[in-house]
Amino acid sequence: MKEELLFCPLGGSGEIGMNMNLFAYGKPGEQKWIIVDIGVTFADDTVPGVDLIYPDPGFIVNKKDDLLGIVLTHAHEDHIGAIAHIWPKLKCKIYATPFTSVLISEKFKEKKIDITPFLKIVELNSTLTLQPFTIEFITLTHSILEPNGLRIQTPAGNILHTGDWKVDPNPLIGGKINSKRLKEIGEAGVLAMICDSTNVFSVGKSGSELDVRKSLLNIMERLKKRIIVTSFASNVARMESVFYCAEKTGRQISLVGRSMHRIYKAAKKCGYLKDVIEPIDPRDAKNISRNKIVYLCTGSQGEPMGAMMRVSNNVHPDVFIEKDDTVIFSSKIIPGNEKKLYKLHNQLVKEGIEVISEENEFVHVSGHPNREDLKEMYNWVKPRCVIPVHGEHRHMIEHINFAKEMQVKYPVRVENGDIVKLYPGEKPEVFDKAPSGRLYIDGSISVEEDAKSIKERKNLL
Ligand SMILES: [Zn+2]
Ligand SMILES: [Zn+2]
Repeated sequence: MKEELLFCPLGGSGEIGMNMNLFAYGKPGEQKWIIVDIGVTFADDTVPGVDLIYPDPGFIVNKKDDLLGIVLTHAHEDHIGAIAHIWPKLKCKIYATPFTSVLISEKFKEKKIDITPFLKIVELNSTLTLQPFTIEFITLTHSILEPNGLRIQTPAGNILHTGDWKVDPNPLIGGKINSKRLKEIGEAGVLAMICDSTNVFSVGKSGSELDVRKSLLNIMERLKKRIIVTSFASNVARMESVFYCAEKTGRQISLVGRSMHRIYKAAKKCGYLKDVIEPIDPRDAKNISRNKIVYLCTGSQGEPMGAMMRVSNNVHPDVFIEKDDTVIFSSKIIPGNEKKLYKLHNQLVKEGIEVISEENEFVHVSGHPNREDLKEMYNWVKPRCVIPVHGEHRHMIEHINFAKEMQVKYPVRVENGDIVKLYPGEKPEVFDKAPSGRLYIDGSISVEEDAKSIKERKNLL
């Protein structure tokens, strides 16, 4: 029997969230496996009481003796969020770059697991060998520090797993996209590219963090009273921009919200944010006049327990907001969150507080590739086959059409559980199905999707 090269998404294909992908190589029955990413989805209001959802790992748990390790592309929750829940069933090695390693170590610490013997830190743009795979980390640009594409070399050919990415010519922090290396990889031949589909409906380019910084500075220069910026804590370039704008406008900065502090510390620990001013404690910031302070808060999606909501509801012990102050939502209005966010905007503007968001000013760029970014990647990599992932079905079908327009020979449509045979055979296609599903974290225990308690809660609506 001949060796095979297989790809199987257990999560993230047909949905945006809980990414988990498998690759295998070897003769049937003797294959070796790797996991790329192991993320969560945040539960919405359709399942009351459930906080997190993650992919059912049963298929790979059954093969754990042939599992070589978990490789992480970057530290967003939809790529690492389930690691401390699933790892105890696998007990394998984990490979990640320094910033991602700091953040996952915290997750294991919370679960009282010492992960250090299993965690292998991979330097940026370096290569790792997990026979029969050779995995090269390639620095890309995204909306977090250290986003990596993976070139997975096998005896049957090479795969480029992009992870999440965009083309940002000025990411401000961390390296630029390694287009030179991507072109070389393209020239050496790419059997299949597994690619981010999030923004396939968006025309033009995704845009640059530098342009957001310039625009934020323009806006902040004209503001005379208290400024509260809210954004995703994990976007360290955006965080640095707010520090930069505070300094340039003669203001102090104060960080508000647990994850803002957590990410700030992790970034500092990895040698980032070296040239920014020192943030001050919100308790001290109370004593500074309102035209001399900028707050950077969590809760940009109007999360009930987020700092932004607590400040708006006047229940935060240290941060106040009043008439003529300004709130800048430097983040995307995520579809599904409009209702609660607009309620928050309304509450603020009614009190005479100015609200600036991506709807009325240029204060945000996405971290995912628009069509022009995709075109560039396709031209660098020239893959023989493209498998769209990281999208709902509508995104992935549009991405298949895009790949056809780009003259890709074999675009392959997948959903969670599909097993694609990339080799042998001329045409890669889905040839088998792995069991897949979702697990719910209900308090501290995991429950299957069709469990009675979950069904009953869905029926509550
Ligand atoms: Zn993602
Ligand atoms: Zn991401």
